[in-house]
Amino acid sequence: MLHIGEISICRINDSDYWVDPGGPFGLVPRALWSRVFPVTDDHLVKMSSNVLLVRTGGMNILVDTGYGSKMPEKQRAILRLSRPAGDLTDGLARVGLKPEDIHLVIDTHLHADHASGNTRYDESGRIVPVFPNAEYVVQRREYEDAMRPNERTRATYLLENYAPLVESGQMRLLDGDTDLAPGVRGVVTPGHTPGHMSVVFSSGGHYGVQLCDMATYAVHFERLGWMTAYDVEPLVTLETKRRWQKWALDYDATLFFPHDPYRPAGKLTHDAEGKLMVEPLDTTLLDV
Ligand SMILES: [Zn+2]
Repeated sequence: MLHIGEISICRINDSDYWVDPGGPFGLVPRALWSRVFPVTDDHLVKMSSNVLLVRTGGMNILVDTGYGSKMPEKQRAILRLSRPAGDLTDGLARVGLKPEDIHLVIDTHLHADHASGNTRYDESGRIVPVFPNAEYVVQRREYEDAMRPNERTRATYLLENYAPLVESGQMRLLDGDTDLAPGVRGVVTPGHTPGHMSVVFSSGGHYGVQLCDMATYAVHFERLGWMTAYDVEPLVTLETKRRWQKWALDYDATLFFPHDPYRPAGKLTHDAEGKLMVEPLDTTLLDV
């Protein structure tokens, strides 16, 4: 467990899976990215679902919920999805928490790899919340886009992950930057999607931010021009990153990356040649 002032944070890896590098690296030539990121012999790169468990002010908070349990077997096989340490619920159990103990779920956005773990099928096949006592929050703009998926976004915007929660009143829609818990603030960071949200932590003069898909891997935060093919507004991502790179340096902030299996957290600094780099944090501090 890692501390930012009074706030404690740990990573629960909900799953590992493998994707075509064209997704996370987009237009970046393979000759460049393959120098800094491992690739398998059959041309796949690894992604993790780095869910954060945040504890502050007596509240247990999740930032995103990963792929959850509803994925069809065929898609699991395509992604080679594996859970060497179990899923999000198993991770919570390792720190003595049940799904009922979660007070707040912050959905950074509603893509399937972040929000599918919001809901599950019950014994009779109905969709029910995984976290029955939690309030869920997401930006209203993200919800509106997710309710009207188009030909490019409909594979990832799956209504069963969020629509029932809004209909039942369990999910609150946010209009812009919002304080969510002591020292925890949701901030709109557009680019990956227009309503994409990052989560800022501040306590006792210490700072951190779950950048989420503003920087899918740590390397995306080191290089302004590198962004994923999943971003719907890549040039907006670039300007958002520019602002938050400066913020990260100014506040010496601990940074969290949603899909990086190798550097899930770190700090932005300069290398010997003066180039920006993410100094990784020891994951044994972070993981449960
Ligand atoms: Zn993602």
